[in-house]
Amino acid sequence: MEEYGLELTNNSKTSWAFSLPRSATCVGATELCRNVCYGNGVRYQTAGQKEKRHRNLRTVELLLSKGGPELLAQNLLTLIDQAKPGDWLAASVEGRKTMTPWSIGCHDVGDFHKISYVNAWWIAARQRPQCSFWFYTRSFADKHLFDAMTELASLANCRGWLSIDSENFESGLLAYAKRSDIWELALLQESEDSLHENLLPALDACATVKQVVSFPLHRGRYHAPQIKHKNLFACPAVLGSYKLEPDPRKPRPCQACAFCLPAPRSTASVEVQL
Ligand code: SF4
Repeated sequence: MEEYGLELTNNSKTSWAFSLPRSATCVGATELCRNVCYGNGVRYQTAGQKEKRHRNLRTVELLLSKGGPELLAQNLLTLIDQAKPGDWLAASVEGRKTMTPWSIGCHDVGDFHKISYVNAWWIAARQRPQCSFWFYTRSFADKHLFDAMTELASLANCRGWLSIDSENFESGLLAYAKRSDIWELALLQESEDSLHENLLPALDACATVKQVVSFPLHRGRYHAPQIKHKNLFACPAVLGSYKLEPDPRKPRPCQACAFCLPAPRSTASVEVQL
């Protein structure tokens, strides 16, 4: 009998994240990102990790079929609450900041594959304004899916990044142009001689200084030479200036860097959730 359940992952770069199978959900994957996806790595390919992603997807589809985005959102809220920092209660009572932020990367592996699934995250994220959500996506070709993700990315506690590379930058920048007030851009950066010759000029036409986060293509500690360009901000975790942090009580690189996370909210403006 198949098992059901939703489960987060907690990794030493991003901290808490949710994962789904790439084969079923990365609907806008490019050949390049399929080839270099860190989901290909040994750590992500164990039977346990694969089954976790498939169990998450089975459960997502079951909940959506039985109760729509509202029922899935209820269950996502349970997961989101599990990601509260360990000192959340004490910090809330004492009126101080927690040792690590309360944050969730919507996908460690996988992507938004259908509108009802996006809507479930939107409902859940609205109910947890003190948790920071962020996501990278290549699912921007379908207009309706893009519109739903735009709603999610427009929440004050959420930030959405359109992931582009040499294969999809034209469609990514078209999507970005529709709602550049909401979206950010993330570049999978190949070496300079492999990068499409029109990509950087196209970025220059729409991005501002250090606005685009770039991920020099990497495997383990080795990465493509960083392209230094005025509009690119190279991920410091890829470059090695932020080290992976195995201790969950300390900020992980993404929590410390926070470039991709939504801007912090004033704690005075939100109700404390114990
Ligand atoms: S730029 Fe910062 S927040 Fe974004 S992925 Fe890299 S380390 Fe994480």
